[in-house]
Amino acid sequence: MTATLLDGRATAQQIQEEIKVKVAAFTDATGNQPVLAAVLVGEDPASAVYVRNKERACKKVGIESQLHRLSADISTEKLIDLVTSLNNDPRVSGILVQLPLPKQIDSQKVLDLIDPAKDVDAFHPTNVGLLSQGRPRFLPCTPHGVLQVLHRYEISISGKLTAIIGRSDIVGKPLAMLMGAKSSHLGADSCNSTVTLCHSRTPNLAEITRQADIVVAAIGVPKFVTAEMVKEGAVVVDVGINRTEDGLCGDVDFEPLRHVASHITPVPGGVGPLTVTMLLENTLMAARLQAETKVATG
Ligand code: NAD
Repeated sequence: MTATLLDGRATAQQIQEEIKVKVAAFTDATGNQPVLAAVLVGEDPASAVYVRNKERACKKVGIESQLHRLSADISTEKLIDLVTSLNNDPRVSGILVQLPLPKQIDSQKVLDLIDPAKDVDAFHPTNVGLLSQGRPRFLPCTPHGVLQVLHRYEISISGKLTAIIGRSDIVGKPLAMLMGAKSSHLGADSCNSTVTLCHSRTPNLAEITRQADIVVAAIGVPKFVTAEMVKEGAVVVDVGINRTEDGLCGDVDFEPLRHVASHITPVPGGVGPLTVTMLLENTLMAARLQAETKVATG
């Protein structure tokens, strides 16, 4: 068996075309372009690349992007001042604070301060709470990207066993909520999976993953998921992005798994482009929310 590649770049391109049309309609109707404000603290090269990719993607779909660069030695208070001013700026639709922040910054305090209506990363406790209650406002970008790529390749997750490895607040935990939810905006095939959320303390991990119809790796360890850990014909989604001496690689041992899985995402070119794309969708949604609030409050 040779697995079908789940092409994240092509899928992202397709979704971005759709977003571009919706952004143009919004801008025509309101006279306002959606605006994404990105905050980048320090000189971390990976963070700089991520922010540049996000700016480029914004431009492609007609979203205006603002970049606020701050030096690595900035205080929590100064960052709070900036986030407060972005919260209060009616031109700004969405706010993104690129993680990780330098050690001296109280990251949680900063993220909790972002106006939940502008929280396009969906990290604010209000947005996490809404998601956990099955009535999400913004969907977290990477988990939403995973759902989208499965949906666009017509892979149903309903009634399937899914093993997610990694329980982070950004990927594993919200993805488990989405995949196991009773309903989905993408339809009946994109929810109702039975999810096992695995982590570094999970005993007999391979026994669990070998039973799964869908295996998602979000660990941060290069090539952690081997061919022996996956059953023949399973769908494998690799969220990992690891910088190694040989270049970028995922959490999945891609080559051997191509001959075991039915479908597999590559790294790069898998989930990464979808994460950026779902951020664009959230920015448009934030702009709509603000336009509606403006109408409602006169
Ligand atoms: P994290 O470090 O916050 O969490 C890693 C998780 O992996 C933890 O829950 C931990 O319990 C689990 N884990 C670690 N070692 C394990 C082991 N030996 N066995 C089982 N579980 C183990 O990481 P994160 O922020 O969720 O990111 C995970 C990976 O995904 C990283 O490579 C990151 O770069 C990548 N990532 C990619 C995107 C994207 O857009 N593609 C977005 C976010 C993160």
